Amino acid sequence: MNKPTILIIEDDQAVRKLISTTVELEGYQYRTAENGREGLMELVSKQPDILILDLGLPDMDGVSIVENVRGWSNLPIIIISARSDDQDKIKALDAGADDYLTKPFSVEELLARLRVILRRLRTDQQSSNIQSSIIANGSLKIDYAAGIVWIDDTELHVTPIEYKLICLLAKNIGKVLTHNYILNEVWGKYYDDVPVLRVFMAGLRKKLRQHSPNEDYIQTHIGVGYRMLRIES
Ligand code: CA
Repeated sequence: MNKPTILIIEDDQAVRKLISTTVELEGYQYRTAENGREGLMELVSKQPDILILDLGLPDMDGVSIVENVRGWSNLPIIIISARSDDQDKIKALDAGADDYLTKPFSVEELLARLRVILRRLRTDQQSSNIQSSIIANGSLKIDYAAGIVWIDDTELHVTPIEYKLICLLAKNIGKVLTHNYILNEVWGKYYDDVPVLRVFMAGLRKKLRQHSPNEDYIQTHIGVGYRMLRIES
Protein backbone atom coordinates (compact mmCIF):
# COMPACT_ATOMS: atom_id res chain seq x y z
CA MET A 1 0.00 0.00 0.00
CA ASN A 2 1.81 3.20 -1.02
CA LYS A 3 -0.41 6.19 -0.36
CA PRO A 4 -3.59 5.37 1.52
CA THR A 5 -6.54 7.63 0.88
CA ILE A 6 -8.43 8.99 3.84
CA LEU A 7 -11.98 10.21 3.60
CA ILE A 8 -12.81 12.91 6.15
CA ILE A 9 -16.50 13.43 6.87
CA GLU A 10 -16.76 16.49 9.11
CA ASP A 11 -19.07 19.51 8.90
CA ASP A 12 -16.85 21.79 11.01
CA GLN A 13 -14.60 23.52 8.52
CA ALA A 14 -11.79 24.25 11.00
CA VAL A 15 -11.57 20.63 12.12
CA ARG A 16 -11.77 19.40 8.53
CA LYS A 17 -8.91 21.70 7.61
CA LEU A 18 -6.80 20.61 10.60
CA ILE A 19 -7.22 16.94 9.71
CA SER A 20 -6.67 17.34 5.98
CA THR A 21 -3.54 19.47 6.42
CA THR A 22 -2.12 17.03 8.96
CA VAL A 23 -2.68 13.91 6.89
CA GLU A 24 -1.43 15.55 3.73
CA LEU A 25 1.84 16.51 5.45
CA GLU A 26 2.23 12.87 6.48
CA GLY A 27 1.93 11.73 2.89
CA TYR A 28 -1.65 10.48 2.86
CA GLN A 29 -4.10 11.37 0.14
CA TYR A 30 -7.44 12.66 1.32
CA ARG A 31 -10.94 13.55 0.26
CA THR A 32 -13.47 15.48 2.29
CA ALA A 33 -17.22 15.59 2.72
CA GLU A 34 -19.25 18.11 4.72
CA ASN A 35 -22.23 15.91 5.49
CA GLY A 36 -23.33 12.32 5.70
CA ARG A 37 -25.03 12.14 2.32
CA GLU A 38 -21.95 13.45 0.51
CA GLY A 39 -19.73 11.19 2.61
CA LEU A 40 -21.63 8.03 1.75
CA MET A 41 -21.44 8.93 -1.95
CA GLU A 42 -17.67 9.40 -1.67
CA LEU A 43 -17.34 6.11 0.18
CA VAL A 44 -19.11 4.17 -2.51
CA SER A 45 -17.63 5.91 -5.52
CA LYS A 46 -14.02 6.52 -4.37
CA GLN A 47 -13.47 3.57 -1.99
CA PRO A 48 -11.03 5.23 0.41
CA ASP A 49 -8.71 3.13 2.63
CA ILE A 50 -9.56 4.84 5.92
CA LEU A 51 -12.58 6.82 7.13
CA ILE A 52 -12.43 9.64 9.68
CA LEU A 53 -16.01 10.37 10.68
CA ASP A 54 -17.48 13.10 12.83
CA LEU A 55 -20.46 11.77 14.78
CA GLY A 56 -22.33 15.07 14.88
CA LEU A 57 -23.30 15.77 11.28
CA PRO A 58 -26.04 18.15 10.13
CA ASP A 59 -28.01 15.70 8.01
CA MET A 60 -27.34 12.27 9.46
CA ASP A 61 -26.45 10.43 12.61
CA GLY A 62 -22.81 9.31 12.47
CA VAL A 63 -23.67 6.01 14.17
CA SER A 64 -26.01 5.13 11.30
CA ILE A 65 -23.16 5.80 8.86
CA VAL A 66 -20.95 3.34 10.74
CA GLU A 67 -23.77 0.76 10.63
CA ASN A 68 -24.32 1.38 6.95
CA VAL A 69 -20.61 1.05 6.08
CA ARG A 70 -20.17 -2.10 8.17
CA GLY A 71 -22.91 -3.70 6.09
CA TRP A 72 -20.57 -3.85 3.12
CA SER A 73 -17.04 -2.83 4.12
CA ASN A 74 -14.31 -3.55 6.62
CA LEU A 75 -12.47 -0.29 6.11
CA PRO A 76 -10.98 1.18 9.29
CA ILE A 77 -13.17 3.89 10.83
CA ILE A 78 -11.94 6.50 13.31
CA ILE A 79 -14.79 8.47 14.80
CA ILE A 80 -14.56 11.99 16.13
CA SER A 81 -16.89 12.90 18.93
CA ALA A 82 -17.60 15.82 21.20
CA ARG A 83 -17.45 15.14 24.94
CA SER A 84 -21.23 15.34 25.08
CA ASP A 85 -21.57 12.45 22.57
CA ASP A 86 -20.16 9.80 24.92
CA GLN A 87 -23.10 7.45 24.43
CA ASP A 88 -22.93 7.84 20.66
CA LYS A 89 -19.21 7.14 20.76
CA ILE A 90 -19.86 3.81 22.45
CA LYS A 91 -22.71 3.05 20.03
CA ALA A 92 -20.41 3.77 17.10
CA LEU A 93 -17.68 1.49 18.50
CA ASP A 94 -20.29 -1.21 19.10
CA ALA A 95 -21.42 -0.78 15.51
CA GLY A 96 -17.88 -1.55 14.35
CA ALA A 97 -15.85 1.66 14.40
CA ASP A 98 -12.17 0.98 15.13
CA ASP A 99 -11.08 3.92 17.21
CA TYR A 100 -12.09 7.37 18.39
CA LEU A 101 -10.81 10.87 18.97
CA THR A 102 -12.52 13.24 21.38
CA LYS A 103 -12.66 16.93 20.51
CA PRO A 104 -10.50 18.87 21.00
CA PHE A 105 -7.73 16.51 19.94
CA SER A 106 -4.13 17.21 19.01
CA VAL A 107 -2.37 16.53 15.75
CA GLU A 108 -0.17 14.01 17.61
CA GLU A 109 -3.22 12.07 18.81
CA LEU A 110 -4.61 11.94 15.31
CA LEU A 111 -1.32 10.70 13.88
CA ALA A 112 -0.95 8.08 16.61
CA ARG A 113 -4.42 6.70 15.79
CA LEU A 114 -3.57 6.61 12.10
CA ARG A 115 -0.34 4.71 12.78
CA VAL A 116 -2.29 2.02 14.63
CA ILE A 117 -4.68 1.72 11.69
CA LEU A 118 -1.87 1.62 9.14
CA ARG A 119 -0.07 -1.15 10.98
CA ARG A 120 -3.30 -3.11 11.00
CA LEU A 121 -3.82 -2.59 7.29
CA ARG A 122 -0.29 -3.80 6.60
CA THR A 123 -0.56 -6.89 8.80
CA ASP A 124 -3.99 -7.68 7.34
CA GLN A 125 -2.39 -7.67 3.91
CA GLN A 126 0.45 -9.90 5.04
CA SER A 127 -1.67 -12.34 7.02
CA SER A 128 -4.17 -12.76 4.23
CA ASN A 129 -1.34 -14.52 2.40
CA ILE A 130 -0.33 -16.71 5.33
CA GLN A 131 -2.79 -19.18 6.80
CA SER A 132 -1.59 -19.31 10.35
CA SER A 133 -3.23 -20.31 13.58
CA ILE A 134 -0.58 -18.51 15.60
CA ILE A 135 -0.71 -14.84 16.51
CA ALA A 136 2.49 -13.22 17.76
CA ASN A 137 2.70 -9.80 19.38
CA GLY A 138 5.96 -8.82 21.09
CA SER A 139 6.80 -11.77 23.33
CA LEU A 140 3.16 -12.87 23.43
CA LYS A 141 2.15 -15.82 21.28
CA ILE A 142 -1.24 -17.48 20.99
CA ASP A 143 -1.71 -20.79 19.23
CA TYR A 144 -5.42 -21.01 18.46
CA ALA A 145 -5.20 -24.55 17.18
CA ALA A 146 -3.58 -25.79 20.39
CA GLY A 147 -5.33 -23.28 22.68
CA ILE A 148 -2.07 -22.21 24.32
CA VAL A 149 -0.75 -18.79 25.30
CA TRP A 150 2.97 -18.18 25.65
CA ILE A 151 5.17 -15.35 26.81
CA ASP A 152 8.46 -16.10 25.08
CA ASP A 153 8.88 -19.82 25.76
CA THR A 154 6.88 -19.95 28.95
CA GLU A 155 3.33 -21.20 28.78
CA LEU A 156 0.92 -18.81 30.45
CA HIS A 157 -1.66 -20.64 32.55
CA VAL A 158 -4.91 -18.88 31.83
CA THR A 159 -8.46 -19.78 32.77
CA PRO A 160 -10.99 -20.48 29.97
CA ILE A 161 -12.46 -16.96 30.34
CA GLU A 162 -9.02 -15.34 30.30
CA TYR A 163 -8.20 -17.36 27.20
CA LYS A 164 -11.37 -16.12 25.47
CA LEU A 165 -10.54 -12.55 26.48
CA ILE A 166 -6.98 -12.61 25.23
CA CYS A 167 -7.98 -14.26 21.94
CA LEU A 168 -10.70 -11.68 21.36
CA LEU A 169 -8.32 -8.79 22.04
CA ALA A 170 -5.55 -10.32 19.94
CA LYS A 171 -7.82 -10.99 16.98
CA ASN A 172 -8.85 -7.33 17.10
CA ILE A 173 -5.39 -5.95 17.78
CA GLY A 174 -5.24 -2.17 17.55
CA LYS A 175 -9.00 -1.83 17.81
CA VAL A 176 -10.88 -0.46 20.82
CA LEU A 177 -13.43 -3.05 21.96
CA THR A 178 -16.29 -1.77 24.09
CA HIS A 179 -17.35 -3.36 27.37
CA ASN A 180 -20.61 -4.47 25.78
CA TYR A 181 -18.89 -6.02 22.82
CA ILE A 182 -16.48 -7.99 25.00
CA LEU A 183 -19.22 -9.10 27.41
CA ASN A 184 -21.36 -10.34 24.53
CA GLU A 185 -18.52 -12.15 22.81
CA VAL A 186 -17.10 -13.80 25.91
CA TRP A 187 -20.09 -14.41 28.17
CA GLY A 188 -22.98 -14.34 25.74
CA LYS A 189 -25.65 -12.04 24.55
CA TYR A 190 -27.50 -10.63 27.52
CA TYR A 191 -24.70 -10.57 29.99
CA ASP A 192 -24.16 -7.05 31.19
CA ASP A 193 -21.73 -6.91 34.08
CA VAL A 194 -18.84 -4.52 33.56
CA PRO A 195 -17.42 -5.01 37.11
CA VAL A 196 -17.04 -8.74 36.39
CA LEU A 197 -15.22 -7.94 33.16
CA ARG A 198 -12.89 -5.61 35.08
CA VAL A 199 -12.02 -8.35 37.55
CA PHE A 200 -11.18 -10.85 34.81
CA MET A 201 -9.24 -8.27 32.85
CA ALA A 202 -7.21 -7.34 35.93
CA GLY A 203 -6.36 -11.02 36.49
CA LEU A 204 -5.27 -11.47 32.91
CA ARG A 205 -3.11 -8.36 32.94
CA LYS A 206 -1.49 -9.42 36.19
CA LYS A 207 -0.44 -12.72 34.60
CA LEU A 208 0.88 -10.95 31.53
CA ARG A 209 2.83 -8.50 33.65
CA GLN A 210 4.35 -11.22 35.82
CA HIS A 211 5.93 -12.80 32.77
CA SER A 212 6.52 -9.70 30.70
CA PRO A 213 6.94 -6.74 33.06
CA ASN A 214 8.19 -4.33 30.41
CA GLU A 215 5.38 -4.70 27.93
CA ASP A 216 1.90 -3.29 28.30
CA TYR A 217 -0.34 -5.32 26.04
CA ILE A 218 -3.75 -4.14 27.13
CA GLN A 219 -4.81 -0.51 27.21
CA THR A 220 -7.79 0.61 29.29
CA HIS A 221 -10.21 3.15 27.88
CA ILE A 222 -12.07 4.35 30.94
CA GLY A 223 -15.83 4.15 30.50
CA VAL A 224 -15.40 2.65 27.02
CA GLY A 225 -13.46 -0.62 26.91
CA TYR A 226 -10.07 -2.15 26.14
CA ARG A 227 -7.62 -2.47 23.31
CA MET A 228 -4.63 -4.73 22.69
CA LEU A 229 -1.67 -2.68 21.57
CA ARG A 230 0.73 -3.95 18.97
CA ILE A 231 4.19 -4.32 20.53
CA GLU A 232 7.06 -3.55 18.19
CA SER A 233 9.57 -6.34 18.31
CA1 CA B 1 -19.97 18.22 13.76
